[in-house]
Amino acid sequence: MKTYQIPVCKGGESIVTDSFFDITNPSNGEIVSRIPKMNSADVDRAVAAATAALAETDWSHNGVLRAKVMLQWADRLEENIESVARQLTLENGKLIGEAIYEVTSQVGVIRYNAGLARTVSGRSHSLGRDSFAVVAREPMGVVAVISPWNWPVTLMIRDMAPALAAGNALLVKPASQTAGVSLDVLRLLLEETDLPRGLVHPVAGSGSDAGQAIVEHPGIDMIAFTGDGSTGRSIMRDASQSLKKLSLELGGKSPMVVCDDADLDKAVPTLVSAIFTTTSGQICTAPSRLLVERGIEGELIERLKKAVSAIRIGDGFDRNSQMGPMTTRDQYEKVLSFVERGRREGRLVAGGEPLQDESLAKGNFVSPAIFTDVADDSPLNRDEIFGPVLVIKTFEGDEEAIALANDTEFGLASAVFTENVHRAWRISRAIKAGTVWVNTYNRFYPEVEVGGYKQSGIGRMAGIDGLMEFTQTKFINFDSIPPQG
Ligand code: NAP
Repeated sequence: MKTYQIPVCKGGESIVTDSFFDITNPSNGEIVSRIPKMNSADVDRAVAAATAALAETDWSHNGVLRAKVMLQWADRLEENIESVARQLTLENGKLIGEAIYEVTSQVGVIRYNAGLARTVSGRSHSLGRDSFAVVAREPMGVVAVISPWNWPVTLMIRDMAPALAAGNALLVKPASQTAGVSLDVLRLLLEETDLPRGLVHPVAGSGSDAGQAIVEHPGIDMIAFTGDGSTGRSIMRDASQSLKKLSLELGGKSPMVVCDDADLDKAVPTLVSAIFTTTSGQICTAPSRLLVERGIEGELIERLKKAVSAIRIGDGFDRNSQMGPMTTRDQYEKVLSFVERGRREGRLVAGGEPLQDESLAKGNFVSPAIFTDVADDSPLNRDEIFGPVLVIKTFEGDEEAIALANDTEFGLASAVFTENVHRAWRISRAIKAGTVWVNTYNRFYPEVEVGGYKQSGIGRMAGIDGLMEFTQTKFINFDSIPPQG
């Protein structure tokens, strides 16, 4: 078991607490990390220090300094990929290969945003012979990043990197379940770069205490939240008292549309990876609704059955495993209750059986499950399950495919598989979601904005627009009439 301390900047005062919380390994229930538990008084201190650091340092004015510090952070993370990935698998349960990919990809995200740090600029306008205006682009101020446990390194850095590049000071509240690996990544920034003192503050502690204190704090200018829709809505309600800017990245119930001319050799493995084996389906973009054109339903189901029965479930450190456990006990119980409901309300066509392997008994392992014949209004069709559960529905023609794809309160992601470019274009333009992949899935790039339509969120992450979310403009008007006489 690793006992953590809260990392602080070089020369900063260490944080002392006699309260701790433990993190258990989802594969076997053993305690792997002990984390200092911070509270609302710690949030007060962090906000005061962050506000002072913005006033006292050159950070928000100096893109060269920001780029330098961020590139140092990326280098340190790159040197530590293996140890960070190991802690990620211990706390989250995901396969070690996925963990290494997760950490590696974030090195690139930090470097991309480090480049952008030197491009943040405003505009000027001539408004007449004697009037001149500058629209300056300024950071928001003190920003809080609140992140979830499923892709904890990615989703923390996805908000932190543009927020830092834009010149803000940060409080960072990671999910409790994966707080250790998050503190490992933050330590590299705080203790192993030239980050000026007081600009970044980890806040390890529960959402209902430390998290809520962040939401209600009048000294915080913006919250960048990624997590569950119900938490997002409560943050929106409570943050309204101090009128904070919000970016909300929430859940999904994403459709994958497979047309009768699709390349099934590509569609089937892509689907199996995206809903079952990647993070055991605990990914916000998971294509949990398969919409298949009637003529190929039988063949597609047969292929899926074969693929699902071949998935090897096991510990994330076992290189033979293809699907790890549910990260939390709550999530394990939620998935099992949805599978049980699916047995009552629909037709189970693959998986969904209790696991027999004794070596998995102490972990949060579940079997993937595929259902058909589920009523449109069933929670199986409507709710985000956040696990390896797929519901299949058939359609005939583009119009029905589009209507079914859009028949959800969510709008995070989607996909269409077809060899016909006209169908691909028509369907992808008509789907109401922030992302549409054509003949692929779960591809993310630092350059490209993502975010949700409808109940899946507010704001855009990544790319230029993602950086702009962490800025505000200021109109400065010069009256240049020369003095008379
Ligand atoms: P969650 O329960 O909403 O928790 C997310 C974060 O919010 C955690 O750090 C949590 O702290 C904190 N929190 C909880 N209550 C809070 C409060 N009252 N005030 C402030 N912070 C609070 O979500 P999760 O279960 O970790 O993650 C799963 C959800 O995230 C799914 O719905 C998934 O779709 C969504 N997600 C969305 C995206 C996207 O990009 N759209 C990406 C990944 C995941 P504790 O851990 O201490 O409770």
